[in-house]
Parts: sequence; structure tokens; C-alpha cells
Amino acid sequence: MGARAPAAARLKVTEYPPSWYAASAEPFGRRTPLDGPIEVDVVVVGGGYTGLSAALTAAEAGFSTVLIEARRIGWGASGRNGGQMIPGMRWPASDLLEKFGEDKARALVALGIEATGRVRSRIARHAIACDLRDGHFHAACKPAHLEAMRREVDLLDRLIGYRSARIVERADVPSIVATEAYHGGMFDASGGHIHPLNYAIGLARAAETAGVRIFEETPALAMDHGSPVLVTTPRGEIKARRGILACDAEVGALEPSLRRIMMPVINYNVATRPLSEGEARALIPSNASIAESRFVLNYYRLTADNRLIFGGGEKYSPRPPADIAAFVRPHLEKIFPQLRGVEIEHGWGGTIGVTMNRLPHFGRIGNSLFAHGYSGHGVLLTTLAGELMVEALRGNSNRFDLVADLPMRGFPGGALLRHPLYVAGMMWYALRDRL
Ligand SMILES: Cc1cc2nc3c(=O)[nH]c(=O)nc-3n(C[C@H](O)[C@H](O)[C@H](O)COP(=O)(O)OP(=O)(O)OC[C@H]3O[C@@H](n4cnc5c(N)ncnc54)[C@H](O)[C@@H]3O)c2cc1C
Repeated sequence: MGARAPAAARLKVTEYPPSWYAASAEPFGRRTPLDGPIEVDVVVVGGGYTGLSAALTAAEAGFSTVLIEARRIGWGASGRNGGQMIPGMRWPASDLLEKFGEDKARALVALGIEATGRVRSRIARHAIACDLRDGHFHAACKPAHLEAMRREVDLLDRLIGYRSARIVERADVPSIVATEAYHGGMFDASGGHIHPLNYAIGLARAAETAGVRIFEETPALAMDHGSPVLVTTPRGEIKARRGILACDAEVGALEPSLRRIMMPVINYNVATRPLSEGEARALIPSNASIAESRFVLNYYRLTADNRLIFGGGEKYSPRPPADIAAFVRPHLEKIFPQLRGVEIEHGWGGTIGVTMNRLPHFGRIGNSLFAHGYSGHGVLLTTLAGELMVEALRGNSNRFDLVADLPMRGFPGGALLRHPLYVAGMMWYALRDRL
């Protein structure tokens, strides 16, 4: 089907790009590239959370499984994200209810919440050392956002009896985070944060233990979704009964029919020097992960060694800023004036796979399944997505189809206009944030 060589094929990358995560990763020696033909039940393309979860679950179900990754395990968004475990889908339950009605909204909300449990259960079952901490705070940037959160807490309870989320009034924000920036927010005890690359590495180790063969530096150059599924790589062809496409932001390079669905958006993070225990506890007493309610948002948290990891700022050209620290710093210092001038020791960027409506996109092409486009909400949803794909391969696709049946439009504009139109849309939302 997709015959064009993807960017991954042209770019030989053998090391992780610099980031605090790469600097603090658990050892995971390079896995050799595929060399020669191979025949299996399931081939998984992409070694982020989605692909790793799918491969692990497939092997556990008894399928002979191979996973190929163009660079290193967790090289994409899974090894560079904010590490924030944000329960639910990108859409609040109120939007799901309004758009899809009560039954579907209830099922989608339940699925989004189940995703939290799936990650926690993988971490516990495989003893993954990824600094799991509890608690996520959705910070209200406007009074109206806090009122919407009040309705959301009630609705979550009414729809699925969800009680982990509670409202934090403005006066109580200092017990969560030391900033004047918020009008209150919603604290969810079942959310939290992790070291993202170490979670990916932990999943990879668990997958190998379950029998998955992992080949790094092995880009899929083309994928035919017939019977058998055929994946062409530089030094060997893979034949499989079923295929799983888990390339997220880059999926369009391998599968042109999906190109319009995905807008790759680059986002930047920094990590400060380790703060002292006292500074860190004073800054975020709850030790929660924190994400703002604005459309173009700041998100941040502490690491296990008390660094502040902070993501913020908007940049619409694919060219990285000359100095990532200088780019993110003003946003950090606006939220935390008390950190003015703090040493920033790491800065990095990563590509978020964003869909037009910000809902994940699941589906089928011939004998392959795909899941991608979590739109900045993939730390939790990806593990579940991998499991749902295997559930579907085993003959029960009800829950996979719940997401696959969601309406999904491509971004408007041809190859040349798609990005400028997206930028114009984002600027409009950024302007609304400031009003
Ligand atoms: C800076 C940043 C911050 C984020 N913060 C958060 C957050 O705090 N919370 C949250 O919930 N989400 C966050 N996200 C989103 C989240 O990280 C992603 O949704 C999630 O990691 C997607 O996982 P994935 O496995 O689907 O894709 P990826 O992790 O991107 O993995 C896809 C893999 O496929 C490989 N690949 C691509 N093409 C090929 C090919 N042809 N052949 C072989 N391999 C190929 C790539 O090398 C890559 O490793 C963030 C993302 C970024 C970039």
C-alpha cells in the first residue's frame, strides 16, 4: 500500500536525542536491526507505548510477535513527553455527552478512565521503575473554566460513579501549587506522573520476556496490508498474518491514506537543575502533575530528583528554536516568578500527533489495525489502545470499534495548505485564551 520511503528510512538515528529523560534512562542496550526474512503471526511497526503495549499483549495472548522500530525504543513522543498521566480523553465528559449522547459518552468515559488502571497495572505487574507518583491537577485559567470543572466532576459521578476527581477552590490552590495564576481547578487522585522513557523501556523489557522479538534501527519502508501482511525493511521482509501500525505522528509517511488525519505538532520541554527538597515541596506541595485549562497550555511537574519539568509556549514552524531554554523560560517564570533565573539544564522537543477533532483515531486497513492521534493525551490512552487492538485481533472488537467508529475528518487543505491553515486555527485559539 504505502510505497514511499518514510523519513525514518532516510534518517539513521542510533542514539536518543539529548533530553533529561535520555540522560536518566534505565540501561537498555541497542537491539540489532532485522537482517533477513521472517514470518510471524503479528508484526508491530513503531516502538512507542502503543506498539509496545500491542506487542506485549499479543505475545501474552500466544501470538508469535515481532516489533520493529525505526530508531530506538521510545525514540518518539513516548520517550520525550511531559510524563503527565491525565485521566480520560482529551474531550471532557460534557462534550462527549453533548456530541454522542448518554450511552456512548458513558462507554467512552469509562474507557478513558480504564486507561489509567491499565498503565498502573503494567507498572506494578512488570515492576517498571518509572518514578510513578499520584495526583493530577487540571488548573483553571479562568473562572468560567472552574465552573465547567464543577459540572464535570458531577457528570463523571453521574455517568460512571467516578469519585477520584474533586474541585479545588481558589483559596486552596496553594496546597497544590505555589502560583497565583489559577482560579482553582480539578484534582484527580488517580492521575499522576511517570518518567516516560523508563516506562517505554519497562514495557519493552516485559515484551521481550513475553517472547516479542524487537528490532531497532529497522524502519518499515513499505507495508502491504493484504494476506499476508508484508513489511519491507532495509535488510529483510516480514510476513505476518496481522499487522499493527503504531507510528503516531509519522504514520502518514508510511501510509499515505492516513496523511490528512495527522498534524505533527512540535512541543518543547525543559528541566531545571535539581531543586532542594525544601524548594521542591514549597513549589508543588501536592507533587501532582499540573496542566492548564487553556488551549495553548503550560504543563509541568517535579521529577524524582526534584527538577521542575516544564512544557510551554507555542511555535508553529517545524524549525526548533535556537535556544529551547530561552524559548520556554518566560512561560515558566510567569507561573513561578520565584524561580526567576533558575538554571535550566536540559531542553528538548518532541512531536505530538494531533487529529482534527483531538480524539484518537483507531481503524483498520486490510489485515492491519492502527491507533494514533492521541493529541497530547497519550501517556495513558496508548497502553489501552495496544491492548484493544489485540482484543480485536482475537475476535472481540466491540471496545476497539467504540473508538474506531468516532467521526474523524482529515485536516483541510492539500499538502501545501494543510499546515498554514492549522497554524491560523491555532492562532485563533491562542488569541481566545488571552481574552
Ligand atoms: C513534548 C511532548 C509532551 C507530551 N506530554 C504529554 C503528557 O504529559 N501527557 C500525555 O498524556 N501525553 C503527552 N504527550 C503525547 C504522548 O507522548 C503521545 O501521545 C504518545 O507517546 C504516543 O505514543 P505512540 O506509541 O503512539 O507514538 P510514539 O511514541 O511517537 O512512537 C511511534 C514510534 O514509531 C516509530 N516509527 C515511525 N515511523 C516508523 C517506521 N516507518 N518504521 C518503524 N518505526 C517507525 C518512531 O520512531 C516512534 O518511536 C506529549 C508528547 C510530546 C511530544
